[in-house]
Amino acid sequence: MSRSESIKKLRDQLVRRRDALHRALEGDLSLLRELHQEKTGDILDAAADTAQDELNSQLIEAESRELNAINDAIGRFDAGMFGNCDGCGKPIPLSRLRAIPYATDCIDCRRKAESKNGSGTTVLWNRVFDNAEVDSV
Ligand SMILES: [Zn+2]
Repeated sequence: MSRSESIKKLRDQLVRRRDALHRALEGDLSLLRELHQEKTGDILDAAADTAQDELNSQLIEAESRELNAINDAIGRFDAGMFGNCDGCGKPIPLSRLRAIPYATDCIDCRRKAESKNGSGTTVLWNRVFDNAEVDSV
């Protein structure tokens, strides 16, 4: 299968996932509304309702975030930008897109972005520098 065929398939998957999320979000929201209508005034019930509400809103938040990412990816596809890295502009490997269809950067750029927050690569460079000094003596 060619890359463009694979990407077309990924778009279909994204659209299906988006529809499923839409349905889930609609279900969660109606559940939230029901919970609010069924409030009895009992303190324990109210506490349980609050916990359930929080759980639901966390779920909705996570689903909304994914939905945004998926809508963004579909938009990128329609703009002909889908599958290219935001960081370096190179095509994102299909294996990565299959794992995360709405990925916007390649693994190299993702690692670079993540290494800015850590010191993992600094240690490696120090070691290389030490070896070079030993060689020159
Ligand atoms: Zn990149």
